Amino acid sequence: MEAGRIEVITGPMFSGKSEELIRRLKRARIARQRVACFKPDIDLRYHRTAIASHSEQTHEAVTVANVARLREKLYGQLPEVEVIGIDEGQFFDQSIVQLTGELVHLGKRILIAGLDTTFTGDPFGPIPALMAIADEVTKLSAVCIVCGAPAIHTQRLGSSRELVVVGAAGLYEARCRNCFRPYLEAPEEQQLELPNAG
Ligand code: ADP
Ligand code: MG
Ligand code: ZN
Repeated sequence: MEAGRIEVITGPMFSGKSEELIRRLKRARIARQRVACFKPDIDLRYHRTAIASHSEQTHEAVTVANVARLREKLYGQLPEVEVIGIDEGQFFDQSIVQLTGELVHLGKRILIAGLDTTFTGDPFGPIPALMAIADEVTKLSAVCIVCGAPAIHTQRLGSSRELVVVGAAGLYEARCRNCFRPYLEAPEEQQLELPNAG
């Protein structure tokens, strides 16, 4: 049996990871490959039965609580499934690295989209390890909301220190290295001078 392929699609929020994942999954279906797509339970922003982009593109997906459940669902569908898509991969634990390794040796093509860094700018969950074992890594950038430069960071707005505060508009924005403020100390320091504000 031929080995499969691991493709990681990463970058900050709003960089087009879900769009790119959806695009690749749709093309696989045009090629008449059997596709299965999954996302973690944590991200219920838009749909329970689909992955969605901020530009409102969607693809059918199954929501799973953790890697054990993902493994169960997948092994229930193998061997027919040829292409496996996973969105918001950063929310799974490290055991997804092992599962991905097993699947690629079964000849599967695995597409994983996820954030590479947290709101403090640190490596996020299993994504860095998945990038290391991938055949191909696509690191996308968003547009910095402050200055318009390519953005590699996800800026959290507000003062929560919890790792996971799920949401999109109003809670997070894309920022470049210069405009990113990883540690929100005093509220005044969170306020960046916007070029055309006031
Ligand atoms: P991700 O999955 O990486 O969070 P999505 O694929 O959901 O990204 O959304 C990408 C889309 O978000 C872009 O095509 C664009 O329409 C929209 N968008 C909103 N804000 C930004 C931004 N700051 N930079 C780039 N795209 C943005
Ligand atoms: Mg996304
Ligand atoms: Zn900037």
